[in-house]
Amino acid sequence: MLKYHIVPVTPFVQNCSIVWCDQTQAGAVIDPGGELPKIEAAAQELGVRLEQIWITHGHVDHAAGAAKMSRELDIPIYGPQEEDLFWIEKLKDRAISMPAFREAEPFIPARWLHDLDQVHIGQETLEVRHCPGHTPGHVVFHAKEIRRAFVGDVLFAGSIGRTDFPRGNYDQLISSIVERLWPMGDDTVFIPGHGPESSFGQERQTNPFVGGT
Ligand SMILES: [Zn+2]
Repeated sequence: MLKYHIVPVTPFVQNCSIVWCDQTQAGAVIDPGGELPKIEAAAQELGVRLEQIWITHGHVDHAAGAAKMSRELDIPIYGPQEEDLFWIEKLKDRAISMPAFREAEPFIPARWLHDLDQVHIGQETLEVRHCPGHTPGHVVFHAKEIRRAFVGDVLFAGSIGRTDFPRGNYDQLISSIVERLWPMGDDTVFIPGHGPESSFGQERQTNPFVGGT
């Protein structure tokens, strides 16, 4: 079975997640935005062997630590979708104005991810959905068996991702949520990039931006 553990990192309190296969203890880190020692200590405590890095999108609080972690642990980076390359290339510029991200580095992932791709860790498989709108290359990771989705900054409990960044698109974001997240099922619990977990069913009922869709 797939297990997961959330490690909030960076001044933005970004929900970095360690996911792993409990048969093999092979694990992946989703969105190591920073505070790598904290993430690595959590993995060690869980007895998880980190083998891959998965990135939802190229924003600094999600992706700034990926290159360094990849190099130090000698593990590959998968994702996001390549439309986010312009964000990844900007990681160092963003770091100049934010001291917490002074170690931010751009990178080219070993594999760009696309809609309906799969990623594998140990004996577990997650499905990738491309969910543009917050950023054009944003992807989410769907763990069907445990009815969980790691959605980055697409959807939050009671809110949705910002669309006022370069190449953000409100209509596209709403379509991503309605057409690609809702079909995962009302009982699917999502882990957002910030704040508490919720379920798609809960958001369909009460979220002021996408309730009733
Ligand atoms: Zn973001």
